[in-house]
Amino acid sequence: MRTKQKPKEKPITTEPCAVPGCPEPGEFKAPKSRYNTNEYQYLCLEHVREFNQAWDYFDGWSRKEIEDFMDGAAHGHRPTWSLSNRVSGSQPLFTSEKLRDSFYHMLGEKPPKGFHKKAPTLPAKQLEAFAILDLEPGMDFPAIKAQYKKLVKKHHPDVNKGNKESEETFKRITAAYTILTKTYGPHDEK
Ligand SMILES: [Zn+2]
Repeated sequence: MRTKQKPKEKPITTEPCAVPGCPEPGEFKAPKSRYNTNEYQYLCLEHVREFNQAWDYFDGWSRKEIEDFMDGAAHGHRPTWSLSNRVSGSQPLFTSEKLRDSFYHMLGEKPPKGFHKKAPTLPAKQLEAFAILDLEPGMDFPAIKAQYKKLVKKHHPDVNKGNKESEETFKRITAAYTILTKTYGPHDEK
C-alpha cells in the first residue's frame, strides 16, 4: 500500500460523478450520505458544491424532517426548488434536477418515482402573497403561519406607533396571509 504517496496537484480519478446522468468526472470526494460518513463517493465540481450547500442547509435536521421535506417536493407541495437560502439571502439552493439527485445522494437513497415530474405553477396571486411574506412559493401552511406570526409581531401597529410604512406592511402581510389561508389553510377551520 502506497498510502504515503500524495497526488501532485488535482487528484486524477477515472470515476465519473456519482450523480446519475452527470457526465462530468468525479474529481471531488464527498461522504456517501449524511448517515454514512465513513464511505465516500466522487462528485464533479458542480455537484460537490451543491452537495456541500445541501449539507449545510440540512444541518441539524433529523432524517425524518429531511425525508418529509423531500417528500413534499416530490409531490408538488413545493413547486420550486429554488428554496432561498435564508442565511445568505437570495442564493438558490436548488438550481437543477441534477441537484435533486445529488441531494438524494446525500441521503444515500434513490429518488422516489415521480420525483422529476414538473411541479405545477401557482396562480400569480399566490406567488405574490408568498413573496410578500418572504416565503418560497408552495410552502405548507404551518410554515406560512409561522412566518406570518413573525412578521405580524414585527410590523404590528401597536409596536410601530405612527410609522406609516409599518402600517402599510402590516396590511399587506395580512392580506397575503388571507389569500394563502384560503388555499393552504386547514379546511375544517373557519
Ligand atoms: Zn456531477
